[in-house]
Amino acid sequence: MKRFDLVIIGSGPAGFSAAVRGVDFGMNVCMIESGNLGGAGIMNGALTSKTMYELSLDYSIAARVDRGYRAGGLTVDYKKVRNTVIQAAKEKQYQMRSQIETFARSKHLKGGITLVQGMASFVDPHTVKVVGAADETLIQGDNFLIATGSKPREYPGIPVDGERIIDSNGILSLKQFPDRILIIGSGIIGCEFATIFSNFKQTEVHLLDRANRVLPYEDDDVSDYVAENLTKNGVTIHHTAQLRTLVKHPSHLEVILDYDDGHSKVLEVDVALISIGRDSNLYSIKPENAGLEPSDKGTLIINDNCQVLIDGKPSHIYAAGDVTGHSQLYSVAELQGRKAVERMAGKTGYPLDYSHMSTLMFFKPEVAAVGANEKMLRKQGVAYKAAYYSNKLINRAIAMRSTTGFIKILVSNDETQRILGMRASGPQASAYIVSVAHLINQGNSLGEVLKIFYPHPSVAEGIQECLRSIGKRSIYKPEAFPEDIYIREWKPE
Ligand SMILES: Cc1cc2nc3c(=O)[nH]c(=O)nc-3n(C[C@H](O)[C@H](O)[C@H](O)COP(=O)(O)OP(=O)(O)OC[C@H]3O[C@@H](n4cnc5c(N)ncnc54)[C@H](O)[C@@H]3O)c2cc1C
Repeated sequence: MKRFDLVIIGSGPAGFSAAVRGVDFGMNVCMIESGNLGGAGIMNGALTSKTMYELSLDYSIAARVDRGYRAGGLTVDYKKVRNTVIQAAKEKQYQMRSQIETFARSKHLKGGITLVQGMASFVDPHTVKVVGAADETLIQGDNFLIATGSKPREYPGIPVDGERIIDSNGILSLKQFPDRILIIGSGIIGCEFATIFSNFKQTEVHLLDRANRVLPYEDDDVSDYVAENLTKNGVTIHHTAQLRTLVKHPSHLEVILDYDDGHSKVLEVDVALISIGRDSNLYSIKPENAGLEPSDKGTLIINDNCQVLIDGKPSHIYAAGDVTGHSQLYSVAELQGRKAVERMAGKTGYPLDYSHMSTLMFFKPEVAAVGANEKMLRKQGVAYKAAYYSNKLINRAIAMRSTTGFIKILVSNDETQRILGMRASGPQASAYIVSVAHLINQGNSLGEVLKIFYPHPSVAEGIQECLRSIGKRSIYKPEAFPEDIYIREWKPE
């Protein structure tokens, strides 16, 4: 039986970042993976979907005819797109492998990483059994990190067949662009795939939205904006529609949708993509054998140090990433994985603060979010001012001929005028959102931020103008551009 300082189950962003941090502290780390190295951070997840998104966006830009250029004979082949996407995933996996191999054999460093391929399950609180392709091994550890992530949620009564009824794991098994696709679920991942398929213009895209708004947790103006852009891109959104049946015929799928207003619609599509959320991936590890008690949602509840409590006490078993029930984001998984190992090494460090966590949404154009939105602040009874500034007034966006987009910033409606949140859309929104995350993290007020020089021409200048407009000192005025600049105030009754 082999014994390690740290045994990690799962090699996604949580597991991998933890393994590398373990080496930083001189630990002997064993990382066990039953599927793809990198988990949903790489294959069938964040990296592959983003590669496909970037390719689809480039294609849609190349197909434009309103900018003075016209690409002749533009065609696209799904198999080649798929190969490019897989190549991107492999590129990252080889980087990860190179690092693992370096630390597996380095004689100059204390500690190292051993990658074991197989399915791990607890035998007792200090031992896991790993069932590999050819053998079974028992591995012991002083500390454990459970980083088993999540898996696509199943739609009751509609089993995935991997060919015509798929989930996000099945995108790369499609052999060609479907002529017609129904995307069931209008959360971030559903809207991303609707954007991707509509960008390539090879597929009739239907998006099923059970509510009356896509992204229902976002402010209504943001949800409506996203829905409008999807529709402009050719997506048919079926709002307030429930899926009654989906029947497989030899040549197509027949779908019946029931709308809240009482009417129904029969639709014919070729592929259905189920995208109704992700459930934590926990039970394969037999948590009961380690004395772990999952929550009702099948997640592992962790304390601020990412430790799982056993009998109410912090234990030697830690958890990080999607399995913890926190926001299912790459960055959260990575930071939690690091935090867990820092704690194991006796470092206290700074507590994880989820209030300035950024979320990126890869639509056309992209949308980025950080901190509070109006709905959250109203629920909490926090008075705020919301300033909206359209990209139509930003020189860089004008130069890019891409003025669809906006910056919306929320500040506290008191003398401190602290920055509480931002929603932004348009080119590069995913790049500059983090600058506002810093402002929120540091508790910056409007006055302090306005001391900074924003470089010109940059899309980020919109942040400055948006904040200036709150103090009535923007260069362009709401009076002249009432649809493009406005301030909204809210106070609890
Ligand atoms: C289509 C898609 C797009 C996404 N896009 C983004 C994005 O743009 N930005 C973003 O921040 N996030 C995105 N995410 C979410 C992000 O990928 C996840 O939040 C992140 O991967 C979670 O990391 P993790 O380490 O917790 O788990 P995972 O990445 O899920 O990794 C868990 C690993 O554990 C392994 N495992 C499970 N059980 C066992 C076992 N018993 N034994 C051994 N190994 C086991 C699994 O095989 C898997 O490899 C996306 C996800 C999907 C599906």
